[in-house]
Formats: sequence, structure tokens, C-alpha cells
Amino acid sequence: MTVRTLGGATIEKVEEICGPGFKPGRMFPKFDQDAFDAQKHWMVPEHVQEGSDRLIGSVHTWIVKTPRHTILIDTCLGNHKQRHNAGWNNLNTPFLDRLKACGCPAESVDFVMCTHLHVDHVGWNTKLENGRWVPTFPNAKYLFARREYAHWESERKTQGEGKVNDGSFDDSVLPIVEAGKAVMIDKDHQPDPLLTIKDYPGHTPGSIAINLKDQGKQACFSGDIMHHPIQVYHPDWSSQFCWDQSMSAVSRRKLLEDCVESNALLCPAHFPGANAGYVKPEGNSFRIEWDRT
Ligand SMILES: [Zn+2]
Repeated sequence: MTVRTLGGATIEKVEEICGPGFKPGRMFPKFDQDAFDAQKHWMVPEHVQEGSDRLIGSVHTWIVKTPRHTILIDTCLGNHKQRHNAGWNNLNTPFLDRLKACGCPAESVDFVMCTHLHVDHVGWNTKLENGRWVPTFPNAKYLFARREYAHWESERKTQGEGKVNDGSFDDSVLPIVEAGKAVMIDKDHQPDPLLTIKDYPGHTPGSIAINLKDQGKQACFSGDIMHHPIQVYHPDWSSQFCWDQSMSAVSRRKLLEDCVESNALLCPAHFPGANAGYVKPEGNSFRIEWDRT
């Protein structure tokens, strides 16, 4: 995979799985076929499956190495976890070997950061050991946005044990808290001199983006504020998975404006391949210029 350099830091993506998912009409309640077709010439086949129009998505983590710390941003689905989504159920991928091959063995991780607590962003927080879920990264502190954690903790009281986010709150978040490895953070928290956090609520109540900045350059790890690049062109297209559709659209536009202003490299959670890019204004909307390094 591509290793990008940003000042004194490096950024590398490690994929867990990748493939075609939902059709756009199902993914985006505000979907418009003509608007989608107008961008298809560059989206097929990398971002949209030829013929079916299914959206291609990956589940991956970002390794960020600063001069002081190794940080993982979002931890995918994990192995051996029972999920209702067939493509996500009981996975057994060599994800940890892939991390190791990128110079990131589990013991080397200092911080795990989750942009939000959905099932596909917390999975590798834990691994199965002697029938128990234990922290995968033994030397890491796991940083959860306080507001995000509080929301799902309260949902668990309503929904019951083992239900929240398809069981992932119970098998991938609570064991971290119980092991004393969780740190609840607010937006002024700075785990590393090069990292800052910003709130973009809507996809979930406590969704955050993580900004990496050094020597005048910036990258933005945006989680699921966008799932697919078509949303750069149509920021009002919230996904069916957004907790609050209109709040999510406001946050998406704000994040895109912030990326334009800071010229940040946009590093989302589900764009396939080596894709990251720079957001440029276009009319009342935006476009993306891919970073091909
Ligand atoms: Zn996601």
C-alpha cells in the first residue's frame, strides 16, 4: 500500500476487506440518477461497479506515525465476530499480519482512535482469547469521543445487552472500558502535538474527524462523514446509515469547506484502493483531485 509523508509523519492505509456494496439509490435517500450518471465516467470501475452501479467500498484502518507515536484510526470489523451482515460475519482475515508487514505490530500501537463507534470502526479493538474479548493492542490507549460513547451507552440501556451496533458495543467497546484502556475525549484533546480533533455530528451523535498537521501540511481523517466520493459532489446526500440526515449533510458540507480552506488531504474510511484527495470548490459544491503519490 502507499505510504504518504506529511511533514515528519507518515500515513498508510491497511485494508481489511473491499468490494461492491449497496446500489446508490438504496444508500442515499436523496439519490438522483442524472447527477450520479454525470460523474460515472471517472467513478467506474474503481468507485462504482461496472454494469450494476453498486458502490465499491473498503473497510480499512489508517496508520499514522508521528515522531512520537503510532496511531491507528478506526479498527474495521475484526475476526470471529457474529454479525447480521453476511459479508461482515465471522471474518477471519490476516489483518494483524498486514499491519505487521507495514511495520506496525500490535504492540507498537500507542493510540487507537475511533472516528465513531459503528460496527465497522471498532472491530479490531478486541480479539478473541480463551473465549474472552481482550484488547488487541496491549500497549494502546483507546480514545473514544465522550459524546459518542455516552450516546451508545444510553442506547444499550434501551436496546439491551449485545444489541447496540450489531453487538459491537458489547464485544469491541465495553471490554476496552472494562480493561481500563479507554480514554473519553473532548474536542480539545490532543493525543499528539500533530493531532487535533473536530466535531462533525450527524452520521452519529459524536462523529469526529481527526486532523494531522505538520510543517504547513494537513490531512483529515473523516470517518463516515462521507462513505463515497459522489458525496463530495453532492454533500446533501446523506447515507441511509446517518443518525440525523440533515445534521449529517450540514457537517459534511462544513468538513468539505474546512478541507478546502486548509488544503487538507482527505482520508475517508471507505474509499477503496489508495484513494485520498484534495477537495476543491466547484460552483455551490465541491470536486476531488486525487492524490496519486
Ligand atoms: Zn463505516
